[in-house]
Amino acid sequence: MGDTNPEFVSDLLTDLYIGGKAVPAGDGGRFDVQDPATGETVASVADGTVDDAIAAVDAAERAASSWAATAPRERAEILRKAFELMTEQAEDLARLISLENGKALIDARGEVAYAAEFFRWYSEEAVRGAGSVATAPSGANRIVVLHRPVGICVLVTPWNFPAAMATRKIGPALAAGCTVILKPASDTPLTALAMARILAAAGVPPGVVNVLPARRSGAVVSAMLHDPRVRKLSFTGSTEVGRVLLREAADQVINTSMELGGNAPFLVFADADLDAAIEGAMVAKMRNAGEACTAANRFYVESSIAGEFGRRLAERMSALTVGPGTEEATQVGPLVNQDAVDKVDELVRGAVDVGAEAVVGGNRPDRPGFYYDPTVLVNVPSDAPILREEIFGPVAPIVTFDDEDEAIRLANATEFGLVAYVYTGDLARGLRVSERFESGMVGLNRGLVSDPAAPFGGVKQSGIGREGGHEGMLDYLETQYVAVQW
Ligand code: NAD
Repeated sequence: MGDTNPEFVSDLLTDLYIGGKAVPAGDGGRFDVQDPATGETVASVADGTVDDAIAAVDAAERAASSWAATAPRERAEILRKAFELMTEQAEDLARLISLENGKALIDARGEVAYAAEFFRWYSEEAVRGAGSVATAPSGANRIVVLHRPVGICVLVTPWNFPAAMATRKIGPALAAGCTVILKPASDTPLTALAMARILAAAGVPPGVVNVLPARRSGAVVSAMLHDPRVRKLSFTGSTEVGRVLLREAADQVINTSMELGGNAPFLVFADADLDAAIEGAMVAKMRNAGEACTAANRFYVESSIAGEFGRRLAERMSALTVGPGTEEATQVGPLVNQDAVDKVDELVRGAVDVGAEAVVGGNRPDRPGFYYDPTVLVNVPSDAPILREEIFGPVAPIVTFDDEDEAIRLANATEFGLVAYVYTGDLARGLRVSERFESGMVGLNRGLVSDPAAPFGGVKQSGIGREGGHEGMLDYLETQYVAVQW
């Protein structure tokens, strides 16, 4: 386990975490977690079964009414403590994320800080519960509106931000008074289990947060969604799996929040500050080696500056240090697994086959582990599959445009609508273009949109609901109206 702090790592939780206890899987099954930098096994983790999933719902149910009745101030202080513990253990957590996900330490440290902020933000939101009282138009009664915890929540998270995708759900759920069962991605269960331990140390009572790693995710999640005690599903992952889960959730008419795939356009107008646009492009493309739902997937650059933009982006991309995420000098770590490398390579080959040119990269480096070279593609034809699909890797395809209408048409020509970026020196144009984007979020002269205080989420097939900000808490609350005779 390299130079990871042994006190932290030798003591990792690798069982299921149900009802405040570490327990093996009901059938004794386990699965391996690998280090993407080497392909070697780093730990073996309990593989939850359907019976374990029901046991987790039992535990969440046992804890539900007392947690919902806990004073908001007490829930706030527990979340605040969780923020402080995460901050104290930030370096160990970053190394753990890097170990099982592969991302460079610099990205892992950023993720831990971002993830911890969700606990701080929701500790502050927990005590801001708002309802309303109004006089009915007839004057005969009063309309009292309350917000109540939605109930037991199933949280399903992806591998690309193993800490932040968990805290972005657990923070508001706990603040709202809900109990949860977290099913982390099988590539990265160790970080989720480490979060369970932090939450317990912060004072979260047994059963309020349960963590259920499971390779048979379909069967395990389906069993929970068909248990009438479960009232909410919050899913972050691919649109493909999101569609399946929306159908599953329909049987019990379960409240759903869906954070799904993206295909972000990144527009650069000729009047933009080119230095800022290149800087923003590097952040929007290369944070997490491109393995982000918010990653810029398609660069649309005004023809008159496209040559210079491409040259300068290629220069920056070729100067990046690729290597094991746990090494301090690394800027770009490996991708999460072999399938991820194969998919990126197939998209790059597909683009080159139809006429694109790789001005830098375009290859898997010759070394063990799951690496792909930072790549810039120019002359990408508009029908290349790489412009339609989420790349999820360090590849920047560049396409040119001639005017604003064409840029908007190209940007919106996708079934996704998570985030869009625009660089321009003209504020009015920036706002006009932002309004014309079919996306839940916009980066205006900024390559990073994620912020715990802001509502994160997509439109079209990128999802339903928002996480983060005040809005993120509403997703874990039901509105109840009491008609009061006056
Ligand atoms: P994925 O859809 O394969 O898996 C996500 C989670 O769902 C994992 O925990 C997985 O084990 C589980 N899962 C898979 N099949 C399932 C099934 N049939 N039933 C129940 N659960 C199932 O996605 P991934 O590969 O882990 O993550 C990458 C995807 O996540 C990308 O599409 C990315 O855009 C998206 N993502 C979206 C956001 C967002 O906020 N919009 C954030 C991060 C990642």
